[in-house]
Amino acid sequence: MSHDGLNIEAIRAQFPLLHQEVNGAPLVYLDSAATTQKPQCVIDAVTEYYTGYNSNVHRGAHSLADKATIAFEGARQKVSAFINSPKPEQVLWTRGTTEAINLVAHSWGNHNIAAGDIILVSELEHHANIVPWQILAEQKGAKVVPIPLTEQGDIDQNAFTALLTSDVKLLALSHVSNALGSVNPVKQMVAAAKAKGITTLLDGAQAVAHFKVDVQALGCDFYVFSGHKLFAPTGVGVLWGKEALLNSMPPYQGGGEMIDTVSFEGTTFNGLPFKFEAGTPHIEGVIGLGAAIDFLNSLDNEAVAQHEADLMDYIIKKAANFDGLKRIGEAKYQVGAFSFLLEGTHPSDVGMLLDQQGIAVRTGHHCAQPLMSRFNIPGTVRASLSIYNTRDDIDRLFAGLEKAKLFLL
Ligand code: PMP
Repeated sequence: MSHDGLNIEAIRAQFPLLHQEVNGAPLVYLDSAATTQKPQCVIDAVTEYYTGYNSNVHRGAHSLADKATIAFEGARQKVSAFINSPKPEQVLWTRGTTEAINLVAHSWGNHNIAAGDIILVSELEHHANIVPWQILAEQKGAKVVPIPLTEQGDIDQNAFTALLTSDVKLLALSHVSNALGSVNPVKQMVAAAKAKGITTLLDGAQAVAHFKVDVQALGCDFYVFSGHKLFAPTGVGVLWGKEALLNSMPPYQGGGEMIDTVSFEGTTFNGLPFKFEAGTPHIEGVIGLGAAIDFLNSLDNEAVAQHEADLMDYIIKKAANFDGLKRIGEAKYQVGAFSFLLEGTHPSDVGMLLDQQGIAVRTGHHCAQPLMSRFNIPGTVRASLSIYNTRDDIDRLFAGLEKAKLFLL
């Protein structure tokens, strides 16, 4: 049992990868913000698809194809319920968060962003929520403007209010920062933007695995996330959008599945969600994502959130008492990621010495170079937490840091 009543051993038992030695020590996996490990039920769902009913979806005239289609569309319904989408058709499969944002930039952006327009982001965005907008802005003569952060790593709300001018056409924000773990007050920021008629996109890559996301309550126009950060396979993700908006958008890619009729005189397009899903999709990934949602639904949400909050408190307290450790980002609400530096050391050296002790963290700029510039640092060491981590993992991290210090200083 963990300190908060969650049967953590039973959860850990479902993740085969965790039970191994790395470099001669039991693995401590503290890199779930990069990608989460997969529970056995997800691995089994993928294996069952390939061993039992591998077929292409939608077009098949045989039983296996029907079975694959039912599993594939069933996963869409599961994701839809998981994020409280009004309809499953509003859940579009993509390769991940990155492709989902690029889809919006190409399809919505090309038709709605013009010269002089502003796309408002924040200083803590992942490159995936900066670069597609920069490419679009360059093509259109528009501008990407960052909302500054406070010293603590929260989005400066006064600056946000001041930047919310009539030139802003899109507000694109991370729900949770991948580098700092800051939970941004996106609901109130979306409401402020919507009151001015601004379209809103939330990058939920680091949010969906940590707390309940309700797209209707958030009030955003688009919500995007990746399956692999949610215990599902890589290569599958979600673009959720408001129905009227998605209906108004042109296709992103052309090909099979997204059409209604094709002739050399002209082509008509399929309806939602298929209009945006050209070609054979990542069937195993989608089925695996459905199994990941089943897995999450089998857990007590409250107990999981409590467990993760306990781990974050524990790491923060231990860090405060660790000589020479400088915490980067002290947002009001923090989930998942904890970033820091060890005085007099380089993050990559610390990461390497932890790895030698079987402790997996991430080091570097975390695809958030503007954020690193904001704090005048080249990068951080990031320990990131998930449901399968324990206080023991955190004790091992700090013991590992003590050893790294002895070696480096
Ligand atoms: N946004 C955030 C906040 C992320 O953490 C990540 C992944 N690190 C991405 C976007 C990009 O996700 P993916 O690589 O799965 O497309």
